[in-house]
Amino acid sequence: MSLILRTRKCAATYGLFVVFALYFSICSVGQAFSRPIPTNIPRNKLSEADATYLLQKDKNKIWLNSELETYQLTKHLAALNTQQLSKAPFAPVILRGSELRREVAFSFDDGPHAAFTPDLIQILMKYHIPATMFLVGTQAERYPYLVKDEVAAGLTIGNHTYHHFSLTKIPPDYIGPELRGCGDVLKQITGKTPTLFRPPGGDYSPDVSRIAAQLGYTTVLWTVDPGDFNKPAASVILARTLSKVSNGTILLFHDGIPQTMEALPLIIDYLKINGYQIVSIDQMLKERSADQEMYNNSLKMAKFAEDHQQIPAPSIDQFNSKE
Ligand SMILES: [Zn+2]
Repeated sequence: MSLILRTRKCAATYGLFVVFALYFSICSVGQAFSRPIPTNIPRNKLSEADATYLLQKDKNKIWLNSELETYQLTKHLAALNTQQLSKAPFAPVILRGSELRREVAFSFDDGPHAAFTPDLIQILMKYHIPATMFLVGTQAERYPYLVKDEVAAGLTIGNHTYHHFSLTKIPPDYIGPELRGCGDVLKQITGKTPTLFRPPGGDYSPDVSRIAAQLGYTTVLWTVDPGDFNKPAASVILARTLSKVSNGTILLFHDGIPQTMEALPLIIDYLKINGYQIVSIDQMLKERSADQEMYNNSLKMAKFAEDHQQIPAPSIDQFNSKE
């Protein structure tokens, strides 16, 4: 009986755990947007004046577009995910890691950014943060040396599409080329095809996640979005992040936001003091998969225990009478 109770308690505990099946499919990546990456690009030596010009004169269109875009609220994404999970076939998207683990993952969208990425890399290296950088193809083409610096710093490179268009606002036929275009550029720079994908602005549909899965990508959104793209004060980014963080949180930040870089050391210190381990999204996904298996097994055990509860256990007298 104690086994049954323990098993039920176990199942109830894991019942709180949100279930998303991980969908991985391997598919060859096409060459639709393939283009040669110029080699021997000199490393831009950005002077203070150049950086100021770049920031103030709005030369960096991709980065500005991302700044202007309206991000989907986390709550809305979670509701959309639940709704779409009920409609098959659908490749589910990832909003968080396992809630059973005191872990947090960092992600940075829209880079690389000529004026800020070098400093961001330094901060992430200093604090040993295995962040995932969701890069825009056109930006990676402009600053391939920054992409290589990110790889050298142990960061994971993710696909954030070639042009940073909202994928729900372009014809479905263009979704694949947007993903392949960015994937090809990143592969040419790093020698490796990324496996994680984040749609610009978090805009996704069943078409988007299915096509991403067919191209071998896992679509990763986020759990907590402190809205740093609107450039609030560092203290606001800090408060918004820390008030919402919990087990398995994937944090969304943006490259190119000085206030984020100011808040980062404090966010990292808070997380470490409060016992959070900072892990990569890749690690989170593997652990989530293991926890999912454990959860499924606990369900099977609960079912087994329930089935066998119907058969009364033999009493000592019954045993004795058989002898
Ligand atoms: Zn973006």
